[in-house]
Amino acid sequence: MLEIKDIHKSFNKNTVLDGVNIKIQKGDVVVLLGPSGSGKTTLLRCINFLEKADRGLITFNELTADFTNIKKKEISELRKKTGFVFQNYNLFNNKTALENVAIGLIHSRKVLPEKAYEQAKKALDKVGLEGKYDYYPSQLSGGQQQRVGIARAFVFNPDVILFDEPTSALDPELISEVLTIMKQLAKEGTTMLVVTHEMSFAREVANHVIFMDKGKIVEEGTPSDIFTNPREERTKQFLRRII
Ligand code: ADP
Repeated sequence: MLEIKDIHKSFNKNTVLDGVNIKIQKGDVVVLLGPSGSGKTTLLRCINFLEKADRGLITFNELTADFTNIKKKEISELRKKTGFVFQNYNLFNNKTALENVAIGLIHSRKVLPEKAYEQAKKALDKVGLEGKYDYYPSQLSGGQQQRVGIARAFVFNPDVILFDEPTSALDPELISEVLTIMKQLAKEGTTMLVVTHEMSFAREVANHVIFMDKGKIVEEGTPSDIFTNPREERTKQFLRRII
């Protein structure tokens, strides 16, 4: 469904993505692991066009585009296919939970407000936030704010949801409520590409795990390939440090 071919990205002279290839099928839960600075966030941001890749190809079902000469129209078309869940939630603080989820539908998708609020309520119910529609982010816990962030990504019904370390800003006791929602979405067949350090999630929920270092994929496979039988020394070292 989604394929990234030979993607490159540098910031000034710092090469951050150095020829990464990824293939994601419908229903896949792919976890991206790697040390800090290995390019995981940049990869997600390039897929969502929050960052512009220098070169490479992106294919979403029937639509293929070349990052080097991609057109605005292609970007807006491709952007519709992914949802993004940010590490720090990225909610509007002066808007309620319901408004945060509905606003994108109203402004970018031109959904009529009444319909958008209806869909936003359903998305909030899905992440267990019925009854919190009118709460502002400051009145919600970090876990609840991130659940609003997930509802906001989900409400667009994207083909793939990209999660960028969705639990790393949370206090430990709030992590599980977010992981529970993510597990539920995965179970329902939501296609997900997840950057996380939550190894239990990667082991239990992922069907494919990719280990990246220094802008390249070092090793990839099933959770048991990576966690039980890693082949590469760098993967072994990383897992020893993190588990
Ligand atoms: P990871 O998510 O694996 O920790 P990142 O993709 O966040 O890695 O970062 C990879 C490298 O890219 C880091 O060296 C980081 O400093 C650099 N980088 C990321 N974003 C920017 C930016 N906007 N400007 C300059 N350098 C950046």
